[in-house]
Amino acid sequence: MSTKKILVVEDEKPISDILKFNLEKSGYEVLCAYDGGDGLNKALNESVDLILLDVMLPVMEGFDVLKKVREVKQNVPILMLTAREEEVDKILGLEWGADDYITKPFSMRELLARVKANLRRTVSEAEAVASEIATFGNLAINYSRYEVTKNSEIVELTLREFELLKFLSAQPGMVFSREMLLEKVWGYEYFGDVRTVDVTIRRLREKIEDDPAHPLVIMTKRGIGYYLNK
Ligand code: CA
Repeated sequence: MSTKKILVVEDEKPISDILKFNLEKSGYEVLCAYDGGDGLNKALNESVDLILLDVMLPVMEGFDVLKKVREVKQNVPILMLTAREEEVDKILGLEWGADDYITKPFSMRELLARVKANLRRTVSEAEAVASEIATFGNLAINYSRYEVTKNSEIVELTLREFELLKFLSAQPGMVFSREMLLEKVWGYEYFGDVRTVDVTIRRLREKIEDDPAHPLVIMTKRGIGYYLNK
């Protein structure tokens, strides 16, 4: 497998340096940007496998970088680095699709675990060979092309949204707890916040349901979790 390239967008040089050092030690190739403008430029023009993106950045703040990257690249995993709890609320409420976040100060071990988990998802996606198409009402999921259509029109989903839908669709009618979804779809057991699941479900519903307030595809089992309608 080729070396994975990670873009670190962080203006605090000591943090950037320690990230670069540890990521390189773990076998990744690292590209650094020290402001939002340069970060955006590198994110769009370089082939990167994952982006670590600080929220508070000079020139252009992290949220704007995220939004602009997502307009062009839907699939590259983006982990937000944040120093404040109110930023976490903002990340969770984002419509533009950060895949994950980590709060400062973070342990390097946790950060590396998150990076690995997010990269592993993209690798398994790339290696998947299923060529099946499943349909649920007016929704069609093409597993090999990672494509979802609604009434034959393509629905733009982030990789995480697609993976969540894919996971639920593998066993329609089966109810999964938020903890279970976090473990199975996000790929790590101990670090996640279950609110992440709710937010991603909400985003998915906004994209695939006719009336997101009264979903017919992704259902809530109150007090337990979520399931896909058969
Ligand atoms: Ca900063």
